[in-house]
Amino acid sequence: MSKIIDLKRRNFLKGSAAAAAAASVASTSAFAGSYDDAKNLKQQKEEDIKNAKYTPVVCGMCVNMCGVIAREVDGKITKIDPNPLHTKSRGFMCARGNAGIAEEYDPDRLTKPLKRVGPKGSGKFVEISWEQALDEISQKMVKILEEERDNRSTFVFGAGASTGNMGDPVFANFLNGVGSANFIDHFTTCFAPSFMANLMTFGSWGLSDFQHTKYVMNLGANRAEGIVTPDTLDMFRKTHGRGIEKIVYIDPRYTNTASHCDEFIAIKPGTDAALILAMINETIKNGYHKTPYKAQYIEENVNGIKELEEFFTTGEGATYTPEWAAKITDIPAETIKRLTKEFSDAAEKYEGAANCYRSRKSTWYYQDFEFRRAQAIFNAIHGCVNRPGGVTLGTHLKGKNGKGLESYEYEDFPIYDNAKGRIDTGVIANGEYPLANPTKGSWQILRDNILEINTKWNKAGRPRPDEDGNYKGLAENEYPVRGFFIYKQNPMQSVPEYDKTAEMLKSVDLVVTIDIIANDTAYYSDYILPDNTYL
Ligand code: SF4
Repeated sequence: MSKIIDLKRRNFLKGSAAAAAAASVASTSAFAGSYDDAKNLKQQKEEDIKNAKYTPVVCGMCVNMCGVIAREVDGKITKIDPNPLHTKSRGFMCARGNAGIAEEYDPDRLTKPLKRVGPKGSGKFVEISWEQALDEISQKMVKILEEERDNRSTFVFGAGASTGNMGDPVFANFLNGVGSANFIDHFTTCFAPSFMANLMTFGSWGLSDFQHTKYVMNLGANRAEGIVTPDTLDMFRKTHGRGIEKIVYIDPRYTNTASHCDEFIAIKPGTDAALILAMINETIKNGYHKTPYKAQYIEENVNGIKELEEFFTTGEGATYTPEWAAKITDIPAETIKRLTKEFSDAAEKYEGAANCYRSRKSTWYYQDFEFRRAQAIFNAIHGCVNRPGGVTLGTHLKGKNGKGLESYEYEDFPIYDNAKGRIDTGVIANGEYPLANPTKGSWQILRDNILEINTKWNKAGRPRPDEDGNYKGLAENEYPVRGFFIYKQNPMQSVPEYDKTAEMLKSVDLVVTIDIIANDTAYYSDYILPDNTYL
């Protein structure tokens, strides 16, 4: 029997403490070196830089995919630099990107497939060969499919958002190859309400074009602390003496982001929707959407403007005045009126180059979807959607020959007769969650449904499906989930109520995680497969 590897957290901590102690000794002795030592080291470095191999790669430390250049000396990556020629990042690289080397050479990095030998969650694994791992996993899959009468949806696939070598599309191909309907990514633990609100208002999520915008109204997106990306710097470019006329930041707390902005306005937590509704009310009441540029924009691009005007003049929206919002948000009515006028003037003057910023983040409040929809409408009636400097919906890149660039080719997979609908938003939910994305689903509903159905199924003695695919003891269309493949995702940390997530993973017969370093979810897996880094 191979050596048992104990992935328990305290072992990680012990390891980290020892590493920290060693680092502190090393740094003390480094200071003790002579001037000649330092000079030699410098010469050696210069020599290394001259002889190094430089490879442009796409950073895989988050979803932004900045262009970076890896420096390699004697087969070892020694530094990562930003790539000034990369179209998206344009010479930007953040601290996470800089730390990419640490992931590559992390002593806790997975190097061999691991197989669980203790109870799920105990962290006890043994190393096995790739051959053994793949053989055992596929044998278990075949057995499960035989028992489930070929219901492919008994396997669920979860993937992080394009943060690695397989990314969404290739992992989705694996899912398609198996034939399951159940694919889940980080969507509902990230920007689902904002995405769906924009999708249902103007058909796309789009990006905020901070490179060309002139006025930003940022509602609580703490970009200087939460996530620094190329567009964070674009948003703050006024700070560096360029471009943007004004950034207004509205948040309950004076954050680091607030310090980069021209005006900070404190708002009572959870009341952003009321603020935007009052701004739409103020816009309609004063006819700010009827100025020359906007009138033409609305004529050409906006449906339902009459209904919106009616709602805000004679309908319920007529009561959403700045005075009404002032009582809810703690922002004075005069400030709400001034901000609306400022935004309106900038949008007119710069023909849509203004941005009521939608941000990315998980849900803040229970009415988040409505808040984001109000923002989408506000941007649209000021002519800021699909305009440079506004919310841009994007176009297909053209290659040098004028034709579109080739997109990723999905394999043509057969449709399996017995695969069932999604376990979260499909047949099981019966339309209970109409706003959930039909292809990306919801982590929480998925987790809760699997746990509930698997528990019932286990209590009923794990019945096999009849010829129609129905199970004794389960409702029509319900089925057990017996396999879960998780690629670079950590639902134990990212989905609320981790006890439930642990129970759900325990209730699934075959859990396989694929990652670079074993995370909390890996503890609850039957097999852990190591992945490459982007370096
Ligand atoms: S934002 Fe930072 S971590 Fe993300 S891709 Fe760019 S450099 Fe990498």
